[in-house]
Amino acid sequence: MTDPVAAGRLTLIGIGPGGLDYLTRRAERAIRGCDIVVGYRLYLELIIPLIEDKHYLEFPMGAELERAQESVRLAQEGKRVALVTGGDPGIYGMAEPVYRALGEMDEDAAAAVNLEVIPGVTAATASAALIGTPLIQDFAVISLSDRFVPWEVIEKRLRNTLEADLAVVIYEPASRHRPSHMMKAWRIISEYRKADGPVAIVRDATRPDETATLSTVGGMMELPYDMKTTVIIGNSASYLDRGLFLTPREHPDVAQG
Ligand code: SAH
Repeated sequence: MTDPVAAGRLTLIGIGPGGLDYLTRRAERAIRGCDIVVGYRLYLELIIPLIEDKHYLEFPMGAELERAQESVRLAQEGKRVALVTGGDPGIYGMAEPVYRALGEMDEDAAAAVNLEVIPGVTAATASAALIGTPLIQDFAVISLSDRFVPWEVIEKRLRNTLEADLAVVIYEPASRHRPSHMMKAWRIISEYRKADGPVAIVRDATRPDETATLSTVGGMMELPYDMKTTVIIGNSASYLDRGLFLTPREHPDVAQG
């Protein structure tokens, strides 16, 4: 394993769900040892205690390719660059724009950038840990953002996942631009899960304003959704008990056999 703070390298860092205790030691070392931190403002704010004395470069939300290109350029200049991103960089994160920026370059120049990707705790597991065992069996993560995927495709994926009886983790359930996506998703969820099937709505997991609310398919639309929220829908064997959202480790057919 190479040194994460060697000169002239780009380290793409998953900072986890927000709470600093959930950042890996390697991520912390790379941030503390870098020359410049690049990121979207929310993520920089979450790691302020680690970057107080650092140069940092703040980007608006959405400017992912520009953020990646600028990070690559700084690494080429010989700087140790920490590009920070929420959760895990390979899950709806900055890994794709970084590899795209490198792919647009001459092969030798790209190889000289010395990229390392440091994984992070993703919102799915950070949220599940607060409420029980919702994801102990097979599950899928689906984003309701139609920025990169047409809505019809998102609906089809959601439908097929529910049909296959996987638990479903929903990222990006709503934003100012698409408040009705969760309602459309709920109509599909209601077709495949019983009204008393468990649902969890986790907001700001591991951050100071963390909330984790348990509900049911029938009751979930009474709650608000925003882009800091993760929603977990159980599989058909999941249930609520003593304030916990439990999915059995054994499939019901095994338990009976
Ligand atoms: N790369 C990130 C996900 C980016 S998509 C990861 O691996 O976690 C952004 C979505 O993640 C948000 O809309 C929300 O659904 C979810 N999310 C991220 N952090 C969260 C947190 N602390 N609490 C609840 N949901 C979170």
